[in-house]
Amino acid sequence: MEHYDVIIIGGGAAGFFAAINTAEMNPDLHIAILEKAKEGLQKVKVSGGGRCNVTHAEFIPSELIQNYPRGDKELLGPFHQFMTGDTIEWFEKRGVALKIEEDGRMFPESNSSQTIIDCFLTEANKHKVDVFYSTTVQSINKHHEYWELQTNKNNFHAKNIVVATGSSVKVWKLLEKLNHHVVKPVPSLFTFNVNDKRIKNIPGVVVQDVLVKVLNSKLESQGPLLITHVGFSAPAILKLSAWGAIELAEKNYKFQIEINFINQDFQECLETLKDIKQALAKKTVLKFSQFELPKRLWQQLVLASTIEESTKWAEINKKQLEALATQLTKAVFNVDGKSTFKEEFVTAGGVDLKEVNFKTFESKLHKNLYFAGEVLNIDAITGGFNFQNAWTGAYIVAKNISN
Ligand SMILES: Cc1cc2nc3c(=O)[nH]c(=O)nc-3n(C[C@H](O)[C@H](O)[C@H](O)COP(=O)(O)OP(=O)(O)OC[C@H]3O[C@@H](n4cnc5c(N)ncnc54)[C@H](O)[C@@H]3O)c2cc1C
Repeated sequence: MEHYDVIIIGGGAAGFFAAINTAEMNPDLHIAILEKAKEGLQKVKVSGGGRCNVTHAEFIPSELIQNYPRGDKELLGPFHQFMTGDTIEWFEKRGVALKIEEDGRMFPESNSSQTIIDCFLTEANKHKVDVFYSTTVQSINKHHEYWELQTNKNNFHAKNIVVATGSSVKVWKLLEKLNHHVVKPVPSLFTFNVNDKRIKNIPGVVVQDVLVKVLNSKLESQGPLLITHVGFSAPAILKLSAWGAIELAEKNYKFQIEINFINQDFQECLETLKDIKQALAKKTVLKFSQFELPKRLWQQLVLASTIEESTKWAEINKKQLEALATQLTKAVFNVDGKSTFKEEFVTAGGVDLKEVNFKTFESKLHKNLYFAGEVLNIDAITGGFNFQNAWTGAYIVAKNISN
């Protein structure tokens, strides 16, 4: 049996951040990380397309929480303790400069997630955190004041444990044995599969600002849209996938969406089209894109309105104009399935937030049992917010344990 003051289960983003900060705040504590894989921080490695989107340049807690479909209310207090500005400072103090991209996402200046991993490994080593790799925690039990952890190797014993195992179903089952409730996990941050003639041959087309609504639902979102080889992606879709993670899972990822490509309502668009018809009477409709739409998309929407390739504006009848206005402002697409967004995906669901004290991230059911990161029922839209949840929770855990 190995004894420690603090054992962190899971050597991912939250686990390393908790261990390093606890060790730094209280050098007297004997701390270990138990990590199932041969190496830690594997998600950090692949995150942000290998660049690691560490956090987001949003510095007002009440604004920051708007990016969390689950966990927004609970994170407001914690963000007043440790948030994006603190993350930037934390890394800078340890020699990792971060940069802001136009959309607010923040990456290491090196553009490599390895910089973050190297920083964590150096810090853990410097503060004498013991890291046990290829060590899977298989049971968690409390004996008097101490936690006993059985692993595939040694057994461990600690006063405090931090569960930072991300979206591990096996660990959620162990936590259920300790009477914690786990909200059923479903994927979040995915793209929509759409097999439709209008978009089949135009992958790579981007529309900067569209409104997407899920029909027969309250779900809607606005932002950039990307047409891919298999359907739709980019923030307008990813935000829907996050806010609708549970609802869309219930629909088995089969539903209809309505897209407004031009940010005008149907009537407004129809009037504009009538003006264009007058102004460009002798020009071929297909040839010149309107509403600043990418030409390839414009052409598909025109063809879908039963306007032929050679038709001139003067030849369009009322029905065709209405059909075109419909395609531009309320085009309906059938979604059938989802695909993985390679840059970032997360799991919605996890330990029920009602059972956690968000001043400390300690379990309300068991003393000296803490949680940090994706193990909790907290997740965010894409942009660096998921890591920020891991850093914030882990920092607050460290502060409390080190006291
Ligand atoms: C491809 C991809 C890209 C992403 N990119 C970004 C991004 O750029 N920005 C962003 O904010 N978020 C990103 N995310 C989300 C982000 O990676 C997670 O939210 C974050 O890693 C959660 O941290 P965590 O420490 O809670 O969990 P994890 O990082 O998943 O770590 C959990 C650790 O626990 C270990 N473990 C599990 N079970 C056991 C056990 N029984 N015993 C011992 N160890 C165990 C696992 O092996 C793992 O190492 C991305 C996710 C993916 C999949």
